[in-house]
Amino acid sequence: MSAKSVSVLPSPKTDTPQQPNISIPPLLGASVEELTAWVHDQGQPAYRGKQLHDWIYQKGVRSLSDISVFSKQWRAEVAEIPIGRSKIHYRSVAPDGTVKYLLQLADGQIIESVGIPTEKRLTVCVSSQVGCPMACDFCATGKGGYKRNLARHEIVDQVLTVQEDFQQRVSHVVFMGMGEPLLNTDHLIGAIQSLNKDVGIGQRNLTVSTVGIRDRIRQLAQHQLQVTLAVSLHAPNQTLREQLIPSAHSYPIEDLLAECREYVEITGRRVSFEYILLAGVNDFPEHALELAKRLRGFQSHVNLIPYNPIEEADYKRPNQNRIQAFVKVLQQQKIAVSVRYSRGLEADAACGQLRVSKK
Ligand code: SAH
Repeated sequence: MSAKSVSVLPSPKTDTPQQPNISIPPLLGASVEELTAWVHDQGQPAYRGKQLHDWIYQKGVRSLSDISVFSKQWRAEVAEIPIGRSKIHYRSVAPDGTVKYLLQLADGQIIESVGIPTEKRLTVCVSSQVGCPMACDFCATGKGGYKRNLARHEIVDQVLTVQEDFQQRVSHVVFMGMGEPLLNTDHLIGAIQSLNKDVGIGQRNLTVSTVGIRDRIRQLAQHQLQVTLAVSLHAPNQTLREQLIPSAHSYPIEDLLAECREYVEITGRRVSFEYILLAGVNDFPEHALELAKRLRGFQSHVNLIPYNPIEEADYKRPNQNRIQAFVKVLQQQKIAVSVRYSRGLEADAACGQLRVSKK
């Protein structure tokens, strides 16, 4: 078999037909068993599979020709086979230490990832698609349109890139970058498994954020993963939600919440509800009360996200008093609540600001 044949690796299934036409599946995202089968196919001893796995995931090697434990001859033979790493096209650091990356993929598309360091954690906010088709009214990514789903290796690569750049192990991953992860479930689940088993991040430290796609939350639950599910609710009722989120027209809030209840039943894990706070739109104490009523008896947590400004929308972020008043109503109603003050605002790297821009 020729050095370029890597056919033992499963070629990823896709939800959309617009995948790049890469004839050699990249090695990144493959398990140790798959890599062992591949080296075997190349006429190499099985232990080379474990070595390859270590070099790809732990050492973060970018080219097979750099794996010094392999023979010179074999390295030359396989030098052109892609591992599946992207290039850093642009990098900017916000004053709070958050780093935004523009990564260039093999087909030239650019995506954004964000590295968010805190005292004890290094969190990566990963993209799941190039652009996003959901077109939520307050989100910069949606305004830029949609190109394609990301493949499994393109998701895992974002985490390895941040790990390499920070010279520190990534502890948490949030699927809150560009795109709607549940429109890309095959690659999402493949990436979750690889981040867990290959990169070594605990499933409970992985969070998938979704605006809600019919039947997909149930589908995710059936995989019995231990990841955290965050649902972008953003409104306490259907009328208001429809104004902000176009997809709410065809997937009403009642159906979404019913599916979330199923998720809790199947997985035994609570759901986190994200609620963007837009001044004068959805931030009245009455909205908080309505939200609390809707979530009563639900094993959940509400994460309030004060709006991060984007150019194409003229929403405003509520002031502190207003935010705290909203929090208070939820607390009085015994709803677990936290406020997410997004990091990276100055680098346009905060929630909803991700678009391919250099700032
Ligand atoms: N498609 C996924 C991930 C989106 S980004 C989802 O909808 O959940 C993560 C969160 O940031 C979502 O809750 C999203 O609605 C929110 N967000 C989008 N634009 C924002 C903005 N301008 N300010 C604050 N949060 C925003």
